[in-house]
Parts: sequence; structure tokens; C-alpha cells
Amino acid sequence: MPSKIAIAGAGISGLATAYALKQRGHDVVVYEAQKRAGGPVHTIERDGYLVETGPHTLLVRHRAVAELLRELGLDPMIVEADSTASKRFVVSDGAPIALPMSPTEFATTSLLSPAGRLRILAEPFVGRFDKEGVDEPLAHFIRRRLGAEALDYLVDPFVGGIWAGDPRRLSARHTFGTLTEFEESAGSIALGAIKKRLLDGPDEATTISRRLISFKGGMKTLIDALTDHLGEALRLDSPVRKLRRDDDEWRVIFERGRARRGESFDAVVLTLPTQALADLEWENAATPPGAMDELCRVNHAPCCVVSLGFDRHDVGHPLDGFGVLVPRVEQFHILGALFVSSMFDGRAPEGRVNLSAFVGGARQPELFDHDDEAILDLACRDLGELLDIDGPPHFTHITRWKRAIPQYEVGHQVVLDRIEELETHLPDIYFAGNYRDGISIPDLLQSGQRHAQAIDETLRR
Ligand SMILES: Cc1cc2nc3c(=O)[nH]c(=O)nc-3n(C[C@H](O)[C@H](O)[C@H](O)COP(=O)(O)OP(=O)(O)OC[C@H]3O[C@@H](n4cnc5c(N)ncnc54)[C@H](O)[C@@H]3O)c2cc1C
Repeated sequence: MPSKIAIAGAGISGLATAYALKQRGHDVVVYEAQKRAGGPVHTIERDGYLVETGPHTLLVRHRAVAELLRELGLDPMIVEADSTASKRFVVSDGAPIALPMSPTEFATTSLLSPAGRLRILAEPFVGRFDKEGVDEPLAHFIRRRLGAEALDYLVDPFVGGIWAGDPRRLSARHTFGTLTEFEESAGSIALGAIKKRLLDGPDEATTISRRLISFKGGMKTLIDALTDHLGEALRLDSPVRKLRRDDDEWRVIFERGRARRGESFDAVVLTLPTQALADLEWENAATPPGAMDELCRVNHAPCCVVSLGFDRHDVGHPLDGFGVLVPRVEQFHILGALFVSSMFDGRAPEGRVNLSAFVGGARQPELFDHDDEAILDLACRDLGELLDIDGPPHFTHITRWKRAIPQYEVGHQVVLDRIEELETHLPDIYFAGNYRDGISIPDLLQSGQRHAQAIDETLRR
């Protein structure tokens, strides 16, 4: 029998779970605190620029994600990143250097010294970690297996760009789990990768060739497609405040205007950020002592997205790539920048370029507290130096995310264990979100499907 299910939070996790539950015939209602859905996934059009306030791209490499986009009718709206986007720059000695993409480029790159390159090639001969099972910091794992230069110029800039994170604090197992598994299974990252390829081959049932995409109207298109399917079932501007157990139902108490209202459900999926989870009130149901506090201890890196439009003639760099990443050791302020108008057409007016710089992160969280003028100034100074820009921006837009990305730090397993404990303890309450299921949009689209399947099976029992 179909069940009535409430979903708290209309970010990508909530919307994906709601869509998949609806496809399975359940009656869903989604409550969102803000006046719009999508969390950081949002696009603004202004002065001929298309500006992403958060994610700029979506990496499709799983069949399930490609099929979901097709089901949502999004295929005609997909734009694939320009082929030059496979080129990424990393700053070394104050200048952007193309990341080597082939053995020949690796042999000649100036990004790493000859000794640094040899150290990477020696990886298969490095002994296995003698403390198996220990949750090792990512920086420690990479330095041990690939050397200090690989950490500084390959891993640290990418961790800054993807997680806005600090490899000294992130858990190797929870952020780069495939690599730690390779070491565990084969004694080396390289040998583990080769062994997997020889034994398993490409997993054609679940994976497809990688496509880096967005949509003609920007990333917001994905949110619009998911919310269109919900119609009246999406309640915006309706923060959930309290959950009350009434016999074998859950009463969801939410705010609308100044009034508190309630609706009853068979099950509730909580996709709220951890801080909002901690603020929830519970009635006739006790959460295990300390469990919510544990969730709140998940650190989140702050991040400002600084969108800038320049005259093409003022930019000396050819901008022939995805963007530029800045290693911590290079002493700039920005974590990196995306060459938005090089990746996708229609992101800037004729003769102009659209760049997005990222400021803050776990590396320099204090920069987040600077005012807009200061943030703009430091982003323009860094980009001016790195990309040889000689002229002021014609367009600026800053978006601030105080708790942008959850950090899977050493000890993250405790958080995952506590969530399981909460789910066991609280009947028909489920937890989903980027502090648990991965941080990328494709991870969360897939986890929405997994959660929906598990909830469906439990409720139909
Ligand atoms: C700057 C930035 C750049 C990124 N770039 C990329 C990228 O290029 N590619 C990529 O794949 N990923 C990227 N990500 C990561 C990805 O966007 C996020 O991990 C993902 O959007 C998180 O989705 P979520 O649903 O788990 O959480 P959220 O989007 O945070 O959703 C939670 C929702 O709950 C709502 N809420 C809070 N309290 C309540 C309440 N009491 N009641 C009801 N609702 C409530 C919130 O308003 C929010 O809408 C980026 C993230 C950021 C911040």
C-alpha cells in the first residue's frame, strides 16, 4: 500500500528522494525553509551573464544518473563542457601550469620536480601502512604513498577545489576511499588500480563514459525539473520545527507565516543540514543521548563564490581550460577559479568572459568574514596576477555559503554510526544529505534513489 511520506529539506538530496519515492507510488510532501528549493544549486541571469551561485557542473559517469536526467526530460537541455575543459591548470611558482594528462606530459611537466615525479613513480615500492584500520588523515596517506610534492601540487589543490577542504584534517578513507582500498587490497595504489582493471574490467552495467555537463539555463534547470514533478507537494517557506510521535504516525509541525501547523505521515525523511537537525524538537520520541550532538560536530567549510565579468581583451591568459586551482603552498587568497564562459556557451555577453573564483574554505575560513569589497578586491588581485588581467571587472556578483561543504574529517565514521543508531532507534525516520551520502550532485541523486528503494521496501513489509 502506498504510504504518506514527509521530506524535510528541498535541496538536491530531498528532491531526489522525493522524486524516487513518488515514482514508487508514494504520496510525498516536501517542506523547505527557504522561499526557493535547491540549496546552493541556483542560477541567476543578469546583464547578459549566467551566474551559478554554487555548483557549476555535474559529472555524469553512472548510468543511473544519465537515466534519471533522461526521465526528467532534461536531455535536450544538457550542454556538455567544451573539449578544452579537460585541461586544468594548477599554480606553481605563481603561474598556472597545465596539469599533465599523458605520460609524455608527465615526463616533461614543470609542475613537479624530477625528484617529485620519481617519487610518484616509486609508489608501488612503498611499504603498506602498518596500522591497518586506523583512520588516516588524507595528507598523511598521500605524502606516505606519493610524496610531498604530489600532496602539495596534485592533491591539495583538488581538495581545495572540490571539498573546499584541508587534506590534513580530512579522512583518507572517507574522501579518497578507492585509493585506500587499493592499498589495502594490493599494497599499492597503482597495483590496486591495475588489478581492479584486469580482474573486473570496466563496469559497463553501472558506469558510462564520463561527461561533464550543465544545462542551457544553468544548474537551476535540474532543480526546476525535480520541483515540477512535485507541484503542490512542495511547501516552500515552511521550516519543519518539531516531530511528534502519535501512535504509529509522525506529526510534522512546520511554520507557515507566524503560525505553526501540523500534518501526519507514515514516515519522515530528514535531509536538513546538521545544524538544522540539531534544532529540531522531538515529542513522544527520545533521540539516543548525544547522537544529535555528534551530527552537529561535522565541520562545514565556508565559501564565497565570486562571479566576475571581464572584457576579453583585458585578459592575457587564453582561458583554454576548465579553470585554475591554487595549492596552499602558493600563498594566494583564492582556492581557484573556473573559466565559466570557456566551458559553456551563453554564459557571458559577446566580447566578455565569465569567471568564478572561490574564496575561504577550510584553508582560510577567516576570509569569509571580510566584507564584499575586500573579497572582490582580493579575488581581482589574485586573478589579475594569475591570468594577466589588465582592467576592472564589468560585472560582479558574490554569493556566500557560511556552511558550504561538510568536511569528512578523521573520525567521520562515528557520525555515520550515530546516524544508523538514530534510524534504528526512531521508527520510520530516515536521514539523507551531503554529510552522509557524498557531497557531489551525482552522489546525492543516486543516494536519493537508494534511500527511496530502502524506504519503499521497509514500508511495504
Ligand atoms: C559553492 C559550492 C560549489 C559546489 N560545486 C559543486 C559542483 O560543481 N558539482 C557538484 O556535484 N557539487 C557541488 N557542490 C556540492 C553540492 O552542491 C551540495 O553538496 C548539495 O547541493 C547539497 O545538497 P543537500 O540536499 O544534501 O543539502 P542542501 O542543499 O543544503 O539542502 C538542505 C535543505 O534543507 C533546507 N532546510 C534547512 N532547515 C530546514 C528546516 N527546518 N525545514 C525545512 N527545510 C530546511 C535548506 O534550506 C536546504 O534547502 C557545491 C557546493 C557549494 C556550496
